[in-house]
Amino acid sequence: MTVQTPIANSFRNQPDEQGHFGKFGGRYVAETLMPLILDLEKEYRAAKADPAFRAEFDDLLEHFVGRPSPLYYAPRITEHYRALAPEGKGPKIYFKREELNHTGAHKINNCVGQILLAMRMGKTRIIAETGAGQHGVATATVAARFGLPCTIFMGAKDVERQKPNVFRMKLLGAEVRPVTSGAETLKDAMNDALRDWVANVHDTFYIIGTAAGPHPYPELVRDFQSVIGTETRAQMLKAEGRLPDMLLAAVGGGSNAIGMFHPFLDDPDVGMIGIEAAGHGIDSGQHAASLSGGKPGILHGNRTYLLQDEDGQITEAHSISAGLDYPGLGPEHSWLHESGRVKYVPITDTQALEAFQLCCKLEGIIPALESAHALAALPNVTATMSEDQLLVVNVSGRGDKDIFTVAEHLGFEM
Ligand SMILES: *Cc1c(COP(=O)(O)O)cnc(C)c1O
Repeated sequence: MTVQTPIANSFRNQPDEQGHFGKFGGRYVAETLMPLILDLEKEYRAAKADPAFRAEFDDLLEHFVGRPSPLYYAPRITEHYRALAPEGKGPKIYFKREELNHTGAHKINNCVGQILLAMRMGKTRIIAETGAGQHGVATATVAARFGLPCTIFMGAKDVERQKPNVFRMKLLGAEVRPVTSGAETLKDAMNDALRDWVANVHDTFYIIGTAAGPHPYPELVRDFQSVIGTETRAQMLKAEGRLPDMLLAAVGGGSNAIGMFHPFLDDPDVGMIGIEAAGHGIDSGQHAASLSGGKPGILHGNRTYLLQDEDGQITEAHSISAGLDYPGLGPEHSWLHESGRVKYVPITDTQALEAFQLCCKLEGIIPALESAHALAALPNVTATMSEDQLLVVNVSGRGDKDIFTVAEHLGFEM
């Protein structure tokens, strides 16, 4: 929810009125959905201009979520990479600690914003889609907080694979509806959630979990998540008296990354790298790297880079990290990629597992496997940076949810 200053050639003035980020984004939806998203857009514009909405959002982020999250200087990771870098160089490394938020990740920021919007619109029922269950848990959490009934659509296969999160959602009072169409995973759950929304629009609000979907979702999710970058900016100015030189964030749908990057897009000296999940490697075909290994197409109401076969069929994504396991990414990232403002690099499962363990041992912080992808870019990125430079990694979530996956890969019996 940042106020944008109009400057020429700004990277922060997207999307346009039709929701386009360059040639990406838009609202490719069925006729029946059009009035819903136009109404949502109108209400969002009004909310954004209303200081009372902003005040309530800020108050909840402070007292319910636990913001601001700290900007933490990571001394041992910094020393570790300085020892490896040519001539002992390498930047000072900071972590933006989104893993300390209530529910353990950045997703709650967006859910708080969207449920406030739902209530402002007089909606009395919440729906959401979830893959690994992280967005489902964050949505069920805010629905419980405001006493609204909540239905979470989840692929039947994911319901089977993610039992702890299914139970969390149930404890929080949500109904979890298994989706048995298609591959029974995230994109099928998203389709069913959209169908439910059309059928029940009179009372239902659909909380989308990442900076994707039809306009205005990519914009509003970005705005709610921009608290990450806005805080980082103020915290870095306080700690070092200047802006950082480099920002790193993992990209699934792209919400934590765009939230970190957006407030810095018009600062040309701030470099940014989005890290995509390369699974078993781009060449293996088993990955979730939509920019490195996909091409533009249309999915879930917007035009963006997607994983697809020669016939344009969406293919299954693979990543060790369930939160990065999505066959597309938000349209603003596709645009930032093509414009060259943000660089995107792939990181494999194996690299992420190594970075995960290193972070645990050197900093006493168990990162989410998603965040471990961002940490795994450090060897290459730090080698090109000097001692007087500043780097921030967005630690998007905590890794308690991932210890069973990691144990299995390390051959540890649980
Ligand atoms: C869901 C998730 C992600 C990926 O989603 P984005 O929308 O790309 O941020 C990254 N990190 C964590 C901890 C997550 O739970």
